[in-house]
Amino acid sequence: MSRHRPFVAALLLGAAACGKSDQPMAFSQSNPFAQPSTLPFQAPPFDKIHDGDYQPAIEEGMRVQLAEVAKVAGDSAPPTFENTIVAMEKTGQLLTRAANVFGAITQANTNDDLQKLQGVLAPKLAAHYDEIHMNAALFARVKAVYDARASLDAGKRFLAERYYKDFVRAGALLSDTDKSRLRALNEEESKLTTDFQNRLLAATKAGGLVITDKAELDGLSGGEIAAAADAAKQRKLDGKWVLPLQNTTQQPAQVSLGNRATREKLFNASINRAEHGDANDTRATIERLAELRAQKAKLLGYPTYSAYSLADQMAKTPERAIKLMTDMVPAVMAKAKSEAAAMQKVAAKDHVTLAPWDWQYYSEQVRKSAYALDDAEIKQYFELDRVLKDGVFFAANKLYGLTFKERTDIPVYQPDVRVFEVFDADGKSMALWYADYFKRDNKSGGAWEDNFVLQSGLLGQHPVAFNVCNFTKPAPGQPALISHDDVVAMFHEFGHALHEMLSNVKYPLIAGTSTTRDFVEFPSQFNEHWADEPTVFANYARHYKTGAPMPAELVARIKKAGTYGEGYATLEYIAAALLDQAWYTLPADAPQQDVDKFEAAALKRFKVDYALVPPRYRSSYFAHIWGGGYSAGYYAYLWSAVLRDDAFYWFKEHGGMTRENGQRFRDMILSRGATEDMDAMYRAFRGRDPSVEPLLIERGLKAAAKDKK
Ligand SMILES: [Zn+2]
Repeated sequence: MSRHRPFVAALLLGAAACGKSDQPMAFSQSNPFAQPSTLPFQAPPFDKIHDGDYQPAIEEGMRVQLAEVAKVAGDSAPPTFENTIVAMEKTGQLLTRAANVFGAITQANTNDDLQKLQGVLAPKLAAHYDEIHMNAALFARVKAVYDARASLDAGKRFLAERYYKDFVRAGALLSDTDKSRLRALNEEESKLTTDFQNRLLAATKAGGLVITDKAELDGLSGGEIAAAADAAKQRKLDGKWVLPLQNTTQQPAQVSLGNRATREKLFNASINRAEHGDANDTRATIERLAELRAQKAKLLGYPTYSAYSLADQMAKTPERAIKLMTDMVPAVMAKAKSEAAAMQKVAAKDHVTLAPWDWQYYSEQVRKSAYALDDAEIKQYFELDRVLKDGVFFAANKLYGLTFKERTDIPVYQPDVRVFEVFDADGKSMALWYADYFKRDNKSGGAWEDNFVLQSGLLGQHPVAFNVCNFTKPAPGQPALISHDDVVAMFHEFGHALHEMLSNVKYPLIAGTSTTRDFVEFPSQFNEHWADEPTVFANYARHYKTGAPMPAELVARIKKAGTYGEGYATLEYIAAALLDQAWYTLPADAPQQDVDKFEAAALKRFKVDYALVPPRYRSSYFAHIWGGGYSAGYYAYLWSAVLRDDAFYWFKEHGGMTRENGQRFRDMILSRGATEDMDAMYRAFRGRDPSVEPLLIERGLKAAAKDKK
């Protein structure tokens, strides 16, 4: 349920180009992106947009933006906030208009031509943004505004600082010698990152467990065995079975594999996948990557890479991110150990002493006997349209005063997409929101939120936001009945949309969801809480045929099962997140580390070395931190979750779900984008620093800690 970042990331993550792309049409004023849309809220004119319109609009958009930037950089007037920062904020509007829609469509409703085009445009866009950041004349003006920032009001000062820091973090202040050293390190880093990704991809593929005797697959369903036979066929291992590896330490098949020896083999295949000393071994690559990033951080003036990475995040320092997790370790460890004790009782009947490869299997045994939840029974109470209107919209009305009206006259990119106009408490029309809920073959997996039009006072833009999910589409004429997880996903993604739609910010760079990585999942996760709030739940959870409320006994069973397994889930996550911090808090002068020794020592040092709960990713296959965008940033998921529960407890302490409380949250968090330091913004709302206590209670971890004392 992660939120996809805006178009640049979407484009850069796109498929590589293959074959030749069609000749782009020339850009002309008849291109549907040439002018702001005349539809309400500048909604994209999907009735006029064709696949051939994107490339000319985006390429013209880049050309126009570079010309606009050159004008700002070459201004003969002395640099001011207006003629430099504000002028920069106004650049690139054609590019943004076209690229926002292109990014959205290539994720939610793509085709082969658009995928190819994505591969063509991604490197061009990356180079485009590099060119802006490396413009020395522009940086000189930004620096002049920054140096005189004492004369600016707080909002302008914050934005000037943000511009300056973004340039500096890219190396703008370095001497020419150091700039070329940084460029060399960047180049090596980029090469090593790709090298890591390629090795891991090959290692994961080669690491799949090959089975020659079908009896070893006991416990798997017919469908799962057929899939394993198919996976073998694809590897030209006809007549055998293959259990392919997922990216995490624990594998889905562990839940049902009754054959203990197979579980053990699969577990070992997973944790050793990238440590066989062959061409797919990633250890030498990550040893150098850790060292190189420490050197890069030192060049940019930071003691460690984590210090560099976290300086512009809410956490600010590695110490704060680490403390969040280590403070939690005793309670989490106690909960995991109590889960293990419950499972050991069941395992003893099989004469088994629990090992890490047994955890998922016995956890499922306990879950089935203790909670007996039947998905089909539950779904009858979650009809999509009712969840949306009587749940999601109902909560937004009670908290923020919003009302919603479906618009069937606004063009959409696919017939299943629905559009709603959003009205403020005073009845004023304020935004558009699109919902694209059903799974399609041409849609990426998962769920996300983004915007077609970003709110900005400076540009006179009102928000046009959208949510995309992958719910199963019902047969024609049948109601869409969804799972409890799907209900939570609807509230989650709508929480991002609220952050987008309630934004009341002047400058686009810091509007809506443009916050730090460790804050952006806070409003969305926070909104999940209202799904289970009793008055909201009672309002939407009704039988799709009879309208009867969900029986209290079933509600209680769902609630009880909610925190089951949190000990394991939280501990494996924290172990991985602390491992991430251990690697990236190495100073530049530390010698290269032996991966396995370093990992074992780090887990021990942080007191998360519990053999039954290995880290969610071991160093050698931790793609988030070596190949993805989460180097020193894996903690961010938990950081946002702490804010979610802590903010929810503020509501609990102040009368719960009232319009007044909602307005306060709206005024102090949801409307403010990134207009000040996220830490200060949160502290102003909460009256203190975030506390981890509410999360411990919500995950059933606090009670476990008390039991132990
Ligand atoms: Zn999210």
